Amino acid sequence: MVITMTINELRRDYIIDRWVVIASQRRKRPTDFIVERPRERRSAECPFCPGNEKSTPPASLVYLLSSDGSIRRDEDRGEERHKNWIVRCFPNLYPAFSPIKLESLSNIQGGFEYVRLDALGYHEVLVESPNHDEHPSVARVGQLIHAINALKDRTKFFMEKDFVKYVSIFRNHGASAGASLSHAHMQIIAMPIIPKIVFEEYSASKRYYEDNGRCIFCDIMVKERGTERLIYENNAFMVFAPWASINPFEFWIFPKRHQSTIIDMRDDDVKDFAVTLRLCLGGLRGLLNDPPYNLGFHMMPGEHYHWHVEVYPALSIWAGFEKSTGTYINIVPPEEAARCLRESLESEKRRLVH
Ligand SMILES: [Zn+2]
Ligand SMILES: [Zn+2]
Ligand SMILES: [Zn+2]
Repeated sequence: MVITMTINELRRDYIIDRWVVIASQRRKRPTDFIVERPRERRSAECPFCPGNEKSTPPASLVYLLSSDGSIRRDEDRGEERHKNWIVRCFPNLYPAFSPIKLESLSNIQGGFEYVRLDALGYHEVLVESPNHDEHPSVARVGQLIHAINALKDRTKFFMEKDFVKYVSIFRNHGASAGASLSHAHMQIIAMPIIPKIVFEEYSASKRYYEDNGRCIFCDIMVKERGTERLIYENNAFMVFAPWASINPFEFWIFPKRHQSTIIDMRDDDVKDFAVTLRLCLGGLRGLLNDPPYNLGFHMMPGEHYHWHVEVYPALSIWAGFEKSTGTYINIVPPEEAARCLRESLESEKRRLVH
């Protein structure tokens, strides 16, 4: 018996010093990831469903439909709760960050060894739809547009606070990806520090801008467009499987126009973004039987930074090697992932509802 050994490819991220092993010989096909997923039981007590508004804190923002069809923005006051909302934002019951400054803590305490900051900020839930199961992978485009506009509104509100250094928007889908409630929702955390990954992207793109006079993300898009990693593009957005994907079937969504945060999106961009999310997450759902995933927005004010969304299907378990080294093994080459996602997305286009 002849044992042939092939060498895997080690890839570095475009920008940050993060490495991933593309393990082609351990390659798996999409069907290998499909597992029987029991339908999540919908509890009658879902606190995010219409009618149960009292089980959550007062809304910081609701979209209401006026009789003329336009959207009216409002918030809950006191014990009153708005009904018939289209999207609804409210503080997380167990916030990681809160706007209340603790008197007992000074802003920075200790010497060189122990640095302490008040966890000043906000932690909110955005319920994307009154319909429990209207996740972006199946949502009406019109509903997604409302959810994205609400994200813009809250981001703008948080970024204007001087103690907020970063606004993180993320989504956990499926219990094994950390979603404790199955009602379609995202979370927004406004925090007093810039997280490490974003800071590395931010600093590296600043250096590139100073050296080349161009945005590195815009340059990446130009190059990726000509590769087999391209998954989808429309007027305003482009989606590709990144060169050094660390997760199987990972993909990144970029606005084509140079924009540093989602606040810069115009109305027609918002519509194209909604279509992009619907098609790509729908394609992922179709390909892998509604897999668990996490996604996160990266955005920072600054002329050299370019916002984007990173989608991480939660299909592999990171164990000793990954956790101890910050280096990853990905058993699906991004070129293969892109090919499968492109195909799945094609059939998704027929299911699009505006
Ligand atoms: Zn619900
Ligand atoms: Zn750019
Ligand atoms: Zn990023």
